[in-house]
Amino acid sequence: MIQEGRVTSMEEVFMGGYQVKEPQIVDALLPDLQEEVININLVQKQTDAGEKSRFKAVVAVGNRDGFIGLGSGKAGQVRNAIEKAAASARLNIIPVRRGCGSWECGCGKPHSVPFEIDGKTGGVRIVVVPGPRGLGLVASEVAKIILGLSGVKDCWTRSYGSTRTVPSFAYAVFDALKQTYNLITPSDWVK
Ligand SMILES: [Zn+2]
Repeated sequence: MIQEGRVTSMEEVFMGGYQVKEPQIVDALLPDLQEEVININLVQKQTDAGEKSRFKAVVAVGNRDGFIGLGSGKAGQVRNAIEKAAASARLNIIPVRRGCGSWECGCGKPHSVPFEIDGKTGGVRIVVVPGPRGLGLVASEVAKIILGLSGVKDCWTRSYGSTRTVPSFAYAVFDALKQTYNLITPSDWVK
């Protein structure tokens, strides 16, 4: 559909309800996509042949302008685990609705989140609260990376639970960002 020119933007992919099946499609539609390795873990597994080590990577991708993806991948080599995670992050890409949900600010520009959002994964919970322009991202390092890649510039965050579990924490932030579109219909977010 992209080759035929029937789909020319990521917005159309989501509005049309299409599923992205190849990571390359995301790169073609979002040429400014950036990639960040969030975490790498060594995973030991007991097999009949003895102990087997594999690496698990978590990678985030985003265009700093309303799209964010998070994915993980496992492989015997770090480089391959990152590649798999990066491909999976592209397939998991979602639109993020931004806004000025800050009562102190009220500028109406899309520099923060439109309202308070809440995400949960594993034993971790994060609440992202709209902040005024110029505040920056008041968040942990991992949350800063993911929020920044999504295009959110100013917000406060509160987190609960085992926040040092980096993969769960990253997925909790991603889950929160999904909420920005959960309560509205696709026609709302083209604006
Ligand atoms: Zn504002």
